[in-house]
Amino acid sequence: MRKIFVVALLLVLPVVMNADRLIRIPMQADSDFTIVRDMGYEIAAGSRVDGYVDVLVNQRFVDETMKRYPEARLLPLEWSELVPMDGRNEMGYYYGPNENALFWAELAVANDMVDSPTSYGTSYEGRDLYFVRITNADTDAPAILFTALTHAREPGSNSVIIDWAQWLTTEYGSDTMATFILDNAQIYIIPIVNPDAYEYNNPSGGDQRKNMNFTTPVASSGIDLNRNYSFQWGYDNTGSSPDPYSATYRGESALSEPETLAQTQWIDSIEPLGGFHYHTYGGYLIFPWGYINSPTPHQSTFESWGNQMAAQNNYQVGRAAQILYSVNGDAVDWSYGETTHDPMLFYTPEVDDNGFWGSQNDTTLIVTNNVECRYMNKLLCMNLLSMVGIEEGTGTRFEGTAMELSLGSNPVSAVLSYTVTGAVPTSMSVLDVTGRVVAAPSGGNWVIPASLQNGIYFLRAGNGTQTVSQRFTVLR
Ligand SMILES: [Zn+2]
Repeated sequence: MRKIFVVALLLVLPVVMNADRLIRIPMQADSDFTIVRDMGYEIAAGSRVDGYVDVLVNQRFVDETMKRYPEARLLPLEWSELVPMDGRNEMGYYYGPNENALFWAELAVANDMVDSPTSYGTSYEGRDLYFVRITNADTDAPAILFTALTHAREPGSNSVIIDWAQWLTTEYGSDTMATFILDNAQIYIIPIVNPDAYEYNNPSGGDQRKNMNFTTPVASSGIDLNRNYSFQWGYDNTGSSPDPYSATYRGESALSEPETLAQTQWIDSIEPLGGFHYHTYGGYLIFPWGYINSPTPHQSTFESWGNQMAAQNNYQVGRAAQILYSVNGDAVDWSYGETTHDPMLFYTPEVDDNGFWGSQNDTTLIVTNNVECRYMNKLLCMNLLSMVGIEEGTGTRFEGTAMELSLGSNPVSAVLSYTVTGAVPTSMSVLDVTGRVVAAPSGGNWVIPASLQNGIYFLRAGNGTQTVSQRFTVLR
């Protein structure tokens, strides 16, 4: 009996001794957060409003941390370590790398609306970076993008996207919104942005958040992909870190990593209207700007859509610095702010999972999170599609000569010039993001009124049988 106990202890000990643990520290004031961060703790989650911050510490430093913060609470081991019971495959109830590959391949085989996983590049270690497209619309229909696992220890983000794809394809034809979305949009999904580190975390469990580039061009513990995007990269040292061993190390240059470079090039090629870059955990819905605590020209849109989407799950809605801390070089700032493309309305939902791996042995919370996030996904798509109007780009579907509308330049500051070819328009209008007509230009040039707010607008041309529209940005 005693012998068995010793053997069991030996089996368990190495895991526990090397484990990282999450510790929840109460915050009385904003300054408490700064103190915790400046002590060098790795911040895993937290909220100024809810008054706590979760830090990730190696088992060896747990006692010391608990002594320093007597009010702190040690969170369960399975929140931070993957230790699935019963020998369940890969990552417990989360979908591991191989299970993902199988799921998406099978979904494509079973469903005409789902394309087979398609490569958009190669990871640092040579793995395929892939996306999946789901649609029943034409190839000129607007794109909406959902991504997961930019941080490889956040598998709850992947569960949400798998549920979303399953729901769309299952409910198409019976649910009004699923049908509308797939008839009018191209839904793009990247299930695993950071496949090398996800594989590293599989199956023994790990807390690798960054990518697996440990050597190029300097020695590091990997690069935080969500600080490596080009817009306002390295703006300051609080929103990202220059320290190669920090959890938020931004890399030596913007888009230095194959995962971010390939992804941004591919995103620019599909030009999504917007989407969700999914992360875990905490229950937040974050919108730009991330690098400073200031509103974008689309603050009212981000905020009103955000509040509407979070009405069921009560996620905290706001900018990163309002919720916890600023971030620079992240994906949503790049999506919205980078000038190589029109502004894309992206959010970062932080799924309300139990830590990183907390649902590995129990599907209860995964199911709840999926349902709550599905609601957000639906509303986001409906909002984005009503913003463009479903007629965008439909000219080529009509008989006869298709009307074409082209813009002189975009973004514009003073005068919008445009040309219509193929057919003669009988009406021209400029619409704002809510679909309200704000002007009726004529003659190929429209002088933008000084009172018009910066932001996204649509120029629409129609002649009774055809309507075409083009998106443009007013930026002064
Ligand atoms: Zn994350």
